[in-house]
Amino acid sequence: MRTVAEALREAAERLSATSDTARLDAEILMAHALGMSRSDMLLKHMRDPMPESFAALVDRRALHEPVAHIVGRQEFYGLDLAVTPDTLIPRGDSETIVEAALDMAGDTGRVLDLGTGSGALLLAFLANRPGWTGVGTDRSPAALAVAHGNADALGIEGRARFFLLDWLQDGWSEDLGRFDLVLCNPPYVEADAALDPDVRLFEPAGALFAGPEGLDDYLHLVPQVSGLLAPGGTAIFEIGHRQAAAIAQIARVGGLECAVRQDLAGRDRAAILTRGVG
Ligand code: GLN
Repeated sequence: MRTVAEALREAAERLSATSDTARLDAEILMAHALGMSRSDMLLKHMRDPMPESFAALVDRRALHEPVAHIVGRQEFYGLDLAVTPDTLIPRGDSETIVEAALDMAGDTGRVLDLGTGSGALLLAFLANRPGWTGVGTDRSPAALAVAHGNADALGIEGRARFFLLDWLQDGWSEDLGRFDLVLCNPPYVEADAALDPDVRLFEPAGALFAGPEGLDDYLHLVPQVSGLLAPGGTAIFEIGHRQAAAIAQIARVGGLECAVRQDLAGRDRAAILTRGVG
């Protein structure tokens, strides 16, 4: 009989060929196979027999399938979110956007999350600001279903509405109204970027790539921001770590001021846009 502890050691060793987080991956997959939390497993079940279903999960991970897809969940800003291959997997880097938003948000207001995907940005914000309501949009009906399910599961459905919307269509911003806060993690990867196989093979290309310099979606979005902001409102965009100067330029042309904030790795990650005073 193989114990959980032995199986974890073997799986971590095998996965280290293809994953930088092999041990953690193995633990999350094992806890999923056992139907329990990782901490319960680590504290109380290491000598239990390995569940039979574990081997197939490790096989999938060895072929680069993201852990979040295999277990159907991803932790983001302390929330346990459902994710599917229809949404980008929420990333730690994007917590920078939530932090920036919470830092500047008062007790009440309306927030818009453009390209909400799993709902990560919108729901993390609303979970921490009970006096706010929000709208999430996406061009993918499948993604909206995931976001909606997450809002329900978190008990936030009464404060979050979701709309199908494609910002590449003319006039996309006309009927949305005005918001105190606009959040957006658009696609911003350069078309020929060499992405990790986990990302390239499994995540939606439409949520990642944005033309030769990764700027195409900002060029559609940023010029409309002024019209979406209530007086004194702020828009926060996730950006690639070499895009700050280009975004600041796009913002200036649209009559917006731009401040930049760094992620935990110290790289530019958030562009904070406000309407200029003059
Ligand atoms: N940071 C993501 C990545 O490099 C890209 C996210 C995005 O394009 N919005 O995989």
